[in-house]
Amino acid sequence: MASGPALGHALGVIPLDEARSYVLDRVDRLPAVQVSVAEAAGLVLAEPIVAQELVPPFANTAMDGFAVIAADTDSAPVTLEVAGTVAAGAPATRPLGPGQAMRIMTGAPMPEGADAVVMVERTSYDADNALVDVEISVGEGNHVREAGEDVRPGDELFGAGTVLAAGHLGVLASVGIGSVCAYRRPIVGVVSTGDELVDDGRPLKPGEIRDSNRRTLLTMLDESGMEPVDLGIARDNEADIAEAFTEGAARCDAILSSGGVSMGAFDYVKVVLDRLGDMRWMQIAIKPAKPFAFGLIGTTPVFGLPGNPVSSMVSYELFARPALRKMAGHTLFDRPVRRAISEDPIGRHDDGKTHYIRVTGGPDETGRWHVRKLTGQGSHQLTAMARASALAVVPDQVEIAAGDEVEIIGLGTVVS
Ligand code: AMP
Ligand code: MG
Repeated sequence: MASGPALGHALGVIPLDEARSYVLDRVDRLPAVQVSVAEAAGLVLAEPIVAQELVPPFANTAMDGFAVIAADTDSAPVTLEVAGTVAAGAPATRPLGPGQAMRIMTGAPMPEGADAVVMVERTSYDADNALVDVEISVGEGNHVREAGEDVRPGDELFGAGTVLAAGHLGVLASVGIGSVCAYRRPIVGVVSTGDELVDDGRPLKPGEIRDSNRRTLLTMLDESGMEPVDLGIARDNEADIAEAFTEGAARCDAILSSGGVSMGAFDYVKVVLDRLGDMRWMQIAIKPAKPFAFGLIGTTPVFGLPGNPVSSMVSYELFARPALRKMAGHTLFDRPVRRAISEDPIGRHDDGKTHYIRVTGGPDETGRWHVRKLTGQGSHQLTAMARASALAVVPDQVEIAAGDEVEIIGLGTVVS
């Protein structure tokens, strides 16, 4: 694909897929590093993990009860001599002999000589006379968890590419692995641009609005497993914008900016980014989020998201999140798309664009999804986006009547 257009030159409208491939082709996985397991949730493994230890490390009981020699219970009910008690963490100090039993608690090591456990519910025991009545006969290995039943030294536990979740990290803890080789979590700076923006809670003067994009984008980054960095507000002048992007490129693996990428007279973001980096300014056949810029300052990817709050979120979902996931080592970049029944007519558009309609809904008792179109579909109407559980994807010239199927992309944690 050709590199960016001449500086500052506005392109014709391009399809979504072209814009996405342009971005995804220009970002690379970050280097793999050694990371403490305590910091590794959500990271992608760069190397397989091989166990060096046994889990369980020793044969132990799965039940509270009595450790016995299975053969002694063949003629159950039988009475056995209680030769001691074994607790988790406190192994027996002597072996079990024929005709004997030891009280044993879940997780405690099997005493030497014992080969089965009778659960406490199938015994009667009087602590005073040191005898236990065993009601049932049990086979060898009954309720015994053998050493290495879960993990053995040399086992490959998880392959490269595994996304580390709670269970994986628990397994690593169980074999005493304290750090892993994983792709680094991208550090991503967020800067808002605009003279109208206020972020200190003071009363608004005429023409001012509060900066919402930075809060939204920082949070979306956090939810995507990235490390967000707040680069503040850059005013609509070249010096301010240049400073924010230069600082961002020095501190971060990628930068998200919002505002200043459309056709406004004070969109100095374009002037500055064209000077600092190699940018492509795009108009994409989608609604919302038509204007979008992507490029590199040195090797740092810059995502120029539109200023309208809904557009910046949609643009993040469609371009920034997949690219940042690629940088983080993921191979699955997008959220799953599913089909739902639209309870409302969404209508039809003949404007050459794919529309992303804010919808809310969920599964019925059969698991089939139903969605309703939210009120307030303007790209400035952030509340509908905040309430949306998904975006319905409506291609150009496709009519969605009430009861029709529609494709949806789940947002956030609702249907991710
Ligand atoms: P722009 O792309 O800079 O022309 O901005 C498009 C629209 O988004 C304008 O109405 C801006 O006031 C608004 N906008 C830009 N940045 C933000 C922001 N950080 N928070 C909320 N609205 C914004
Ligand atoms: Mg602006």
